[in-house]
Amino acid sequence: MFPLIKLDGISKIYGVGENKISALQDVSLEVNKGDMLAVLGNSGSGKSTLMNIIGCLDLPSKGKYFLDGKNVASMSDKQLSFVRGKTIGFIFQSFNLIPTLNALENVELPLAYRGLAKTYSRELAKDALEKVGLLDRMRHLPSELSGGQQQRVAIARAIASSPPLILADEPTGNLDSKSGREVMELIWQLNNDGHTVVIITHDQKLADSIPLKIVISDGKIVQKS
Ligand code: ADP
Ligand code: MG
Repeated sequence: MFPLIKLDGISKIYGVGENKISALQDVSLEVNKGDMLAVLGNSGSGKSTLMNIIGCLDLPSKGKYFLDGKNVASMSDKQLSFVRGKTIGFIFQSFNLIPTLNALENVELPLAYRGLAKTYSRELAKDALEKVGLLDRMRHLPSELSGGQQQRVAIARAIASSPPLILADEPTGNLDSKSGREVMELIWQLNNDGHTVVIITHDQKLADSIPLKIVISDGKIVQKS
């Protein structure tokens, strides 16, 4: 069986000339189906850059990336966005919900983008909101929900189409400790349900509870366990 994620000698350089920043240097990594991997490191170490590349939101400057066995560099933009929509659910620190849409509409939006029929999207979105315990809040706008509830809506949005891979970039970073724990419980649950999870955090305590981890420093993996 091949890994779901395989990075081979990935580097990422931002900018040109004197403004060049080497955000990742020669990163190689494999994540197997069903794994939960924590990515640790100080601010500015390259964690989000790594996640953006794994999530096909950005391309590496050097190296190869195989997602589910397929070479990402060989895909067209159209293929990439299709693969991203089908394979990956994103959870961000700042929730990234659309303020003018209610919870249900936020969860439905990416499903609509994928061209699913309205009634089917609605069914999947409601199922996902039920999983995160927010079916009774589905008509609420993000501004009418607590931070923890907003992040749970974002999780529902990430899982609505049952993507095999969940990428979470500091998902508890903007939450109080109780909401953070609830969100982590949910993320653990997703992993138990079979989703592969890559979670970025600089919360050492949270990372201690996750057996597989890498530590990034100055764009390099300095520790793997
Ligand atoms: P982390 O998520 O660990 O805080 P990032 O991956 O966001 O780190 O950033 C790694 C380095 O790359 C930092 O020096 C940051 O300033 C730089 N960087 C990130 N994104 C960009 C960008 N779009 N353009 C230029 N530099 C960037
Ligand atoms: Mg970051």
